[in-house]
Amino acid sequence: MSQRCFVALGANLGKPVVTVNAAIAALRELPGVSFVAASSLFRTAPVGLKHQPDFINAVVEMIAVSPAPIFLAQLFAIEERFGRQRSVKNAPRTLDLDLLLYGDQLSDDPRLTLPHPRLHERAFVLAPLAELAPQLTIPGHGCVGDLLLRCADQAVEKLVPQSV
Ligand code: ADP
Ligand code: MG
Repeated sequence: MSQRCFVALGANLGKPVVTVNAAIAALRELPGVSFVAASSLFRTAPVGLKHQPDFINAVVEMIAVSPAPIFLAQLFAIEERFGRQRSVKNAPRTLDLDLLLYGDQLSDDPRLTLPHPRLHERAFVLAPLAELAPQLTIPGHGCVGDLLLRCADQAVEKLVPQSV
């Protein structure tokens, strides 16, 4: 059965706008999933480890036929293609792809937690997600639009296409 999925993209090394746009193009090419829509790009200050460049973030909506672990492996393969090196948590990265939601599937497996465990408290995920699905309910947390209002203290700047 096909599942409505959302993938978060984040990048803050090299040319992050170019990387995020290229990663969106790579997601469109994936077998076993079909592309539905991409949000605008957003610029956000780093969370956690502070002294690093700003991030560019976006969210893509897809319909997946592949099981969630296969889809996640495909996302990791794209990260690798873009030169991602895994170091410490919240470290700068050329590209981070997170599976936010896979239909209404719930999982507490640390290798694949669904919904993504920090999604409901991060404006840099909720702002692009709210463009695509403001009414969507995050199981256990409430609707995307309401969750975003609760993150009003976190600055996210929507990039207008001319400035990209
Ligand atoms: P983060 O995205 O939290 O900054 P990483 O991209 O380095 O950190 O991911 C760390 C681990 O999180 C990965 O080994 C991955 O298996 C795991 N993980 C758990 N749930 C998810 C999910 N929903 N999407 C992406 N990775 C996940
Ligand atoms: Mg990740």
